[in-house]
Amino acid sequence: MRPSSPAEGEPDIDRMENHDGAVVPDGPTAANVSGPHPTKLSGAGCATGGSASPLDFGAMPTFRAPRGTRDLLPPERAAFRRLETIATDLTERYGYREIETPLLEQTAVFERGVGAVTDVVEKELFLIAPRTEEAESWALRPEPTAGIVRAYIQHGMQTLPQPVKLTMTGPMFRYDRPQAGRYRQFWQFDVEAIGDAGPAIDAEIIELALRFYGEAGLKRVEVHLNSIGDAACRPAYIEELTAYFRGHVDELPQLERDRLERNVLRLLDSKDPAMAALNAAAPRITDRLCGPCAEHFAAVKTHLDTLGIAHVAEPGLVRGLDYYTRTAFEFYAPGREGQQQALGGGGRYDGLVELLGGRPTPGIGFGVGLDRVVLALAAEDVATPPETRPLAVVVGADPAATADRLRIATDLRAAGLPVRAELTVRKLGKQLESAARDHAHFAVILGDELAGGQVQLRDLEAGSQQLVPLVDLARKLAAAAKSHRHGVGEG
Ligand code: AMP
Repeated sequence: MRPSSPAEGEPDIDRMENHDGAVVPDGPTAANVSGPHPTKLSGAGCATGGSASPLDFGAMPTFRAPRGTRDLLPPERAAFRRLETIATDLTERYGYREIETPLLEQTAVFERGVGAVTDVVEKELFLIAPRTEEAESWALRPEPTAGIVRAYIQHGMQTLPQPVKLTMTGPMFRYDRPQAGRYRQFWQFDVEAIGDAGPAIDAEIIELALRFYGEAGLKRVEVHLNSIGDAACRPAYIEELTAYFRGHVDELPQLERDRLERNVLRLLDSKDPAMAALNAAAPRITDRLCGPCAEHFAAVKTHLDTLGIAHVAEPGLVRGLDYYTRTAFEFYAPGREGQQQALGGGGRYDGLVELLGGRPTPGIGFGVGLDRVVLALAAEDVATPPETRPLAVVVGADPAATADRLRIATDLRAAGLPVRAELTVRKLGKQLESAARDHAHFAVILGDELAGGQVQLRDLEAGSQQLVPLVDLARKLAAAAKSHRHGVGEG
């Protein structure tokens, strides 16, 4: 993880409550939600109707989504769904199985598994206020790996054939200062391969992430790569790095000075311009890897070469989470490499299973930030698929005959067809307008013929219409849906 803590001098979050909308893009608003769902309500006919004044939708709503969280309205949810489908197809192809862990864990899982001296735990953990009778402390998950590894140990997955390849997609929570691309609730597509020391699987997992971006429509995502050593070589490096920065302590911004004695690696991925020259001249971990780590790193690169995957060497990439060892990587779109622009990241965590109480077991994984992928797709004008539309809408000449419309739509849906019923009591003309607004392909029109077991089937795209026996209706619609032909007569 790139450090996602507020930079020095950023305003305190709790004093920013009035500026919500200014800093956090909330995604689509009701005004740009298209589709079949009415976004404006009418005060008339309101069942509660205690007040004489009509509802005023121009006023500030009483309640809003919590700061840093947002509603995914239908168009954005459709974009997420598309990414989830790509993730599911891809992980199945690569032999990963889905897991779902709770949104909350014992706080200690993150304190140990992520590291107590990290922003994610120190500042960004969403702690759940305990009830008085509860002895345990819980926190919303800021990242998926610690919880998945906890589940791996708890359910004895060490006895399964290794590696155990698991995938999960869901929301994560970090109490950070919200801004574009940084939310307090965000979504990750996550992949973990536990029980394989690599190096081949390191390359495989990086290739899998790149294929995900490619299939999503981001063709030019780059992988930034580093090795951060292991328990054999990192302590000596950390000492050397600490000595180096102590020698330059007067040049360090306050925030970095505070971090120096607690988590010196974090200074390396500081985005403070004052740190650029110091970091460029800092000792590099890749020059100080122990023999086995150096061999592993070289082999990862050979495997990537074999797959034709170029990488950007990034000696400052240390990631903010303590549990990483050896391979560390992040994904960026070229030219968009700022602090809130990592599209995903991951790495090897050979010490984590043991840290959480299991037998020593290596592991590697990555998390893709789906919110950021959606933002990047929009920035690159990659079209997201249109929302699903009904194949047909059942309308009727008699506005009051809602039971007939409901019954016939129900039968068609039972036959597996996406069909909407016009259940509002209004004139046929209005019902047909509504069907057209939904971009329905067909209108099933109920009229006098219904008594004889027939309906009018109007092809709204072709403008043709024919009388169809009710018994044939589902078959005809299904055939039209399958062939994508417009003329209903061809079914
Ligand atoms: P990390 O474990 O911090 O590297 O997170 C993995 C990925 O999740 C990052 O590369 C981002 O794409 C995404 N991500 C992390 N934090 C946030 C956040 N606060 N809001 C949106 N996306 C995030």
